[in-house]
Amino acid sequence: MFSVFDIFKIGLGPSSSHTTGPMRIAKRTLLEAQNLGLLAKTARVLVELQGSLALTGIGHGSDRAAILGLLGHEPETVEKSQADLDIEKAFETKRLLLLGQYEIAFDAKNDIDFRGDIIPKLHPNGMKIYLFDKNAEQIFTRIFYSTGGGFIASEEQLLRPTTNDIVKRGKKAQLPFTSAAELLAHCAKTNGNIDDVVRINEDSLRPRAQTDAGLLAVWQAMNSSIERGLDAVGILPGGLKVRRRASSLYQKMRENPLSQDLERLFDWLNIYAMAVNEENANGGRVVTAPTNGAAGLIPALIRYYCAGEGWNAGDCAATGKIGRFLLVAAGIGMIYKQRASLSGAEMGCQGEVGVACSMGAAGLCAIWGGTPAQIEHAAEIAMEHNLGLTCDPVGGLVQIPCIERNAIGAVKAANAARLAMIDVGDHKVTLDQVIETMRQTGLDMSSKYKETSQGGLAVNVVEC
Ligand code: SF4
Repeated sequence: MFSVFDIFKIGLGPSSSHTTGPMRIAKRTLLEAQNLGLLAKTARVLVELQGSLALTGIGHGSDRAAILGLLGHEPETVEKSQADLDIEKAFETKRLLLLGQYEIAFDAKNDIDFRGDIIPKLHPNGMKIYLFDKNAEQIFTRIFYSTGGGFIASEEQLLRPTTNDIVKRGKKAQLPFTSAAELLAHCAKTNGNIDDVVRINEDSLRPRAQTDAGLLAVWQAMNSSIERGLDAVGILPGGLKVRRRASSLYQKMRENPLSQDLERLFDWLNIYAMAVNEENANGGRVVTAPTNGAAGLIPALIRYYCAGEGWNAGDCAATGKIGRFLLVAAGIGMIYKQRASLSGAEMGCQGEVGVACSMGAAGLCAIWGGTPAQIEHAAEIAMEHNLGLTCDPVGGLVQIPCIERNAIGAVKAANAARLAMIDVGDHKVTLDQVIETMRQTGLDMSSKYKETSQGGLAVNVVEC
């Protein structure tokens, strides 16, 4: 069973599958080599980025992430300023200190190979690392896959369906679920709501106080990314010359507080979501929700509906509004992760912003007092109207359509939750059915529309 902290992970932008995953793969590979006593003998490291990691790797910063992982950094702890300095130094000196201990020559131009021609069968985001000794003999090689939302998996994990992508833990969850039907059955049996079930599972992993502290850290990281995004102006990196807009929109809203436009709700959700995703596009610290590309939607809903300008830490405890939102949203995210995928390279944007919209609608419905059935309905409606959503980022950057897509997704999530709250009674389509539909649609979707920048907006918008 996954934990709420597997779904909400603090890290650096712009992409969880193309930045967080590769950073973790690089470090993990070197740690394995170190355990075998091979790192001290290593004279050259070659990183091979395959499939989508190669095709949109430069725009998503996969090469930079790989360098950070080789240096021994972790996405959860590395500061953006330090990361920028270390990457600049690696490019300038053409030398790397593997895991901060073993110095080798490293020329990113030759030692990071973008192999967009290799489309791995197991998952489109493959990353293979080769180690060579001073005689240019290959002494170690390992392949991992970045499976979306910062998760990574070995070949063995993906080949054995029973252990497929499972997070191994010492303790078993008390109320495990792999489908919405099972989750609802647990709610009925325990006479609890979805957050109660997820909380019981979290309690089997760690003391409640630690979960509360973790939820607080997640919300603080989300809120900080909103704050930084509201402050920042200028042009986003990458060459598309996309202007940051959240800050100026925020000023406009603050200067006109008496506006009675009914549509002000849209403005606030747009502003908060865009603030986070502009930060993400800038390589700043955000939280996977459930991915970096979809990092803005859930924070926007929480900021507008739960936190406002004056939230307190108690709201982040498991029983507070924000805690409940996060637990419910994570519970829904876990089902998508187990039954389908959170990877844009596998599912298109259905698996990123679509899933975030479904999670957000569920969280919102929960804090509005929705029953388990209404929450499941909200999550279902939100995904039903994201089916077929493609991933076609212009220039391979997580900017167009990603930033606005989070804003539109936040509004859609609120509408789905509203509909579920008002519409009582049975509904025809279940969440499990819509997740399976998303999975099949993702598998049928042409690879042009799955994070390869080979179709859609990516070929129709001229870069300048
Ligand atoms: S279009 Fe969606 S899936 Fe693709 S990079 Fe952007 S946010 Fe991620």
